[in-house]
Amino acid sequence: MFSLNYCSYRNYLLLILLCSIFIYYNSLRQTKNFDVTTEISNSNRIIYAVRTGSRFYQKRLVYLLQTWIPLVNKDTFFITDKLLPNISQDHTILTEKACGSDAHSMSNLCCKTAHDFLVFHHYISEYNWFCHFDDDQYVNVNKLNEYLSTLDSNKPYYIGRTSWPNALQRSKEPFPSPFWFATLGAGVCLSKQTIHLLKPYTQTTSEFVDGCIRENYHDDIYLGFLLSAYLNITLTKTDRFHSHLEKSFYSNKQTFLRTFTNQITFGFRTPDRYPYFLPQFYRSHLDPYRMRTLHCLLYTQINECQTKIHQHLFNSTK
Ligand code: UDP
Ligand code: MN
Repeated sequence: MFSLNYCSYRNYLLLILLCSIFIYYNSLRQTKNFDVTTEISNSNRIIYAVRTGSRFYQKRLVYLLQTWIPLVNKDTFFITDKLLPNISQDHTILTEKACGSDAHSMSNLCCKTAHDFLVFHHYISEYNWFCHFDDDQYVNVNKLNEYLSTLDSNKPYYIGRTSWPNALQRSKEPFPSPFWFATLGAGVCLSKQTIHLLKPYTQTTSEFVDGCIRENYHDDIYLGFLLSAYLNITLTKTDRFHSHLEKSFYSNKQTFLRTFTNQITFGFRTPDRYPYFLPQFYRSHLDPYRMRTLHCLLYTQINECQTKIHQHLFNSTK
């Protein structure tokens, strides 16, 4: 009796041991798989300044935190009025004290953008490229990395997308000439050399804010003005950056599906500035802009995405 009990007890222990080894091995394999997909080789060293605010956390930022930001977590800094959930303090740049309460006004947004430069100057020796993104953007970080690695960050680059078909007309001194500017809402990247040259104009928040007010330009226009007028740096235009201002980007499904893997930024806004025609991998309240679906289509190796894709294929062939 005793020996039988002892025997089954031993078998039971053995079974638990085998199960534990199996679970441990599987979790190791999964972690490894996940690491492979989430490690972005950032040999160019890109820093990401994301402009957001406490009132946008649930509406926008959570979707970025569920998709592209984890791929570049260590290199991402948040410019925000207040501390945000799940974001470490050492990656948070608080603006409320210097800029006042959040508002979609010229001075508040210029003041927030001025904080990008404080971060950029602080980390100048650690990065080659300095990018700004708004919180209503999906960034295809692999393609951004690939694109920037074709350029020399020791040269003065100002990279982005124009939202207007023509250069901005200007007849005032000190620079009575038209100039191009890139809309910050599509993302803007500056090389290390450009950050270095911008230092005299962006050392303190008030230098940049006073400049915006003096010229009566919004932050992105003032940045374009500074670069053209004072530094003679012209805009490198890219049509792979997209803001939600662009009407046609999501209007042609076929073109979008043919080209989306090559795009670098995607703006989103309801009701129609997002890829609404993509399959729904998540319930709509969990993925209102289809950003998580887009992310899965770009990173099919991620375990969760594999599951979503399998589920979708299975359901659509049932
Ligand atoms: N924003 C902000 N404070 C505000 C309003 C907007 O920091 O009071 C940020 C917002 O998080 C986003 C950017 O400014 O990153 C542009 O805002 P939004 O997308 O709402 O406006 P639009 O792109 O139409 O200018
Ligand atoms: Mn926007």
